[in-house]
Amino acid sequence: MATGKFINKSVVLKTIRESSSIARKDLIQKTQISSPTITRILNTLIEKNLVLDLGIGESNGGRPPQILQFNGNSSLVIGFSWALTELDGVLSNLDGHIVAEFKRNIPVDFSLEQDLCIIDEAVGYFLAQAKQRDIPVKGIGVGVAGYVNTHGVIMYSVVQRWRDLDLAALLKKKYHLDVFVDSGSRAVTVGELLFGSAIGLDNALVVINDYGLYSGIIINGEVIKGEDGVAGEIGHCRIDLQTDEQRRCLCGKMNCLAEYSAGRGILKTAQQQLPENSLLSEISQGNPSLLKYTDVLQATEQGDSFSCKIVEESAMYFAKTLSNLSIFLNPKAIILSGSVCRNLLFFHTVENYFNAQKLKQVYTSTQIKMASNEKHAGARGAASLLIDKLLNLEI
Ligand SMILES: [Zn+2]
Repeated sequence: MATGKFINKSVVLKTIRESSSIARKDLIQKTQISSPTITRILNTLIEKNLVLDLGIGESNGGRPPQILQFNGNSSLVIGFSWALTELDGVLSNLDGHIVAEFKRNIPVDFSLEQDLCIIDEAVGYFLAQAKQRDIPVKGIGVGVAGYVNTHGVIMYSVVQRWRDLDLAALLKKKYHLDVFVDSGSRAVTVGELLFGSAIGLDNALVVINDYGLYSGIIINGEVIKGEDGVAGEIGHCRIDLQTDEQRRCLCGKMNCLAEYSAGRGILKTAQQQLPENSLLSEISQGNPSLLKYTDVLQATEQGDSFSCKIVEESAMYFAKTLSNLSIFLNPKAIILSGSVCRNLLFFHTVENYFNAQKLKQVYTSTQIKMASNEKHAGARGAASLLIDKLLNLEI
């Protein structure tokens, strides 16, 4: 977060960025910062190449206005979404436009060192791409599936089995660039805040539902981390079941939301109840272990009643938790991201159930929305970790 003398500068920079171009006098009016201070700040931002002075604009009589514009091409940033089975990378400009992409499947049994070789290949490719364009690379952002503390250290990754890994220090030493590591869900949330469905929202919740289930919380325009860096772990909220069934979650507790509403929960329910002679048993050749959660989602699009029932039930548990959280946090919007949320039956069931559960006696404006940054959401979000620091003039 920007502090002290940096606050004015980042306010000026963000105001210029949010307008396609802005006259100096409008900038003073919008920011309520005095004219001499604005001049000093603009000189620094122009010197850093973050702002372009487009010269003098047209005048409607009186002194012609000075026009300013954010320079999204002043530098590039690399973003990686690093998951167990895939590395997704982007090279992005500061406006969030992707200028190069890199995607590799990672074998599940790869070690950290083997994964780092793939990272090395990707960084080499991106640096070459940037050199071709003659634009400097400012740094690397990495989003990982795991618990990342407030200092960027991965305390524990359930899927990758990493413990106390200071990935940022490791990459910084190797590439001599600024590196920021955070949980994948927070990276996606920063991406939605800067370039997606959460633009301009001060209070929102971004929920990502794929194989696992996570969220990022925006309060007063900032993505919060919590005391230990694990704020937003929505998948581990306990739920009240309408059956006597008990499921133990990866975290060790019983009946966490993810066990029923994440992709892995949907898969588990389908595998446990798989009927013979059904569409899903045909797809899995009668072997439940061959089934994937995406098979269940796709089967709903063909009207398969067994799959529809599972997805609707998962959506109800999910919506109930969102409803509790919205009463607690009062967000402007809950933005749904990830392959499960993109399933229309799931999305509309959540929307309907959520709206029916809203506080009746108090007007609450919380809207359920679909995320807009779906392509490379994780990698773009990871790049946004860097862009956010740049806009706050922290690097
Ligand atoms: Zn859990």
